[in-house]
Amino acid sequence: MPTVEEHRAAIRDLLAPLAGRKPELWHGTRPPISSAPRVLATDLVSPIDLPPFDNSQMDGYAVRAAEVSPGTSLHVGARIPAGHGVDLLSAGTAAPIMTGAPIPVGADSVIPIEAATPNTFQPEHESALVTFSAPVTAGAYIRPRASDIAAGSVLLPAGTVLGPAQWGVIAASGITEVPLLSQLRVLVLSTGDELTLAGHPIAAGRIYDANGASMATALAGAGARIADVLVVHDYAPLLREVFEHRDREADLILTTGGVSAGAYEVVRDVFEGCGVEFESVTMQPGGPQGAGRAEIGRFSGPVVSFPGNPVSALVSFEMFLRPLLRELHGLPQNRRTWRASLAESLTSPAEKHQIRRGVINTEREVVLVGGPSSHLLHSYAASTVLVHIPVGVSHLDAGDPVEVWSIDD
Ligand code: AMP
Ligand code: MG
Repeated sequence: MPTVEEHRAAIRDLLAPLAGRKPELWHGTRPPISSAPRVLATDLVSPIDLPPFDNSQMDGYAVRAAEVSPGTSLHVGARIPAGHGVDLLSAGTAAPIMTGAPIPVGADSVIPIEAATPNTFQPEHESALVTFSAPVTAGAYIRPRASDIAAGSVLLPAGTVLGPAQWGVIAASGITEVPLLSQLRVLVLSTGDELTLAGHPIAAGRIYDANGASMATALAGAGARIADVLVVHDYAPLLREVFEHRDREADLILTTGGVSAGAYEVVRDVFEGCGVEFESVTMQPGGPQGAGRAEIGRFSGPVVSFPGNPVSALVSFEMFLRPLLRELHGLPQNRRTWRASLAESLTSPAEKHQIRRGVINTEREVVLVGGPSSHLLHSYAASTVLVHIPVGVSHLDAGDPVEVWSIDD
């Protein structure tokens, strides 16, 4: 029986050829809308200054600082709205200027409208005056050109995870081509005669497919692209048929269900003969596991098979795929691990690495949620940590330390 560490190493070797793939060039005027985080493949250089011109930080008056002392009145000049051209500021004039509007030539500072009398913009007329009660220093309330970044500087370095602010600054720079680390395309297969797709009535003895949703979400969180999510019945010709479709191209196949020692183990039956090995890993839940390079139909590549119980599939993903896939996608690891005291005692099969689900209480202790059974998906959904009980441990008391992994992001 392979240990968790041995099976993890086997999957790492299996997926190693998928590393270092050619980056993709994203081209467009809108960021790619995808739930998976994307990573920059090379440095991006800013093609323009940001801001591109000196502009006002406030709604107020553009003035020459040297012309303003307490009690100064100036003629009100033409208004400068955001998005409009730069005029010359005539001597003795204060130009009403809006936030983001370019500073007119000749002006060197802005006085906020709140510090002027009158303190609201008046309807335009030629003889209007505005009075200032305080002096102003040159440069006040001006956002200088290139104060955020200068043209030619590195806007974002290679390896940056592109979140909202990063896509925002790419758009602000007018960039329309971004080299991205490529994503693995993963085909998700839920297997079982009992599985029904959401939205369909549920017949006697049937259940809705949970693993398609949980695995697709987990894969996207690890940076992958979902090629498709399919439900396949426990009938070998149907499973084989999936791989005859050219439009289902994938770099990796992830299956759930059909890998135990029972009858109707369709995944095992189909893949065992074509390069995938099935073993019982010393872990609970998630003991029965499959992994290997398969040649089947039009597909030739790695297959990873998890057991079908929804908790087993999720725990297997955390143990074997999430860290590896995040690494392959250039993403930092997102599971915090630490040691915490148990709030209650527990038992565990000594020959297995048991993984329980739990939450952290106000004393920072681990409270278990639900029992060890692998069908307790709702309990998993209410949990924030995985709790590890290593091989060789059959009993732990309240207060004993355990390793926990965060699962709340
Ligand atoms: P299996 O690994 O195929 O023997 O399935 C083990 C248990 O998990 C059975 O109770 C199945 O009904 C259940 N199961 C398998 N696949 C899924 C799935 N995709 N969604 C929900 N439950 C499943
Ligand atoms: Mg089954």
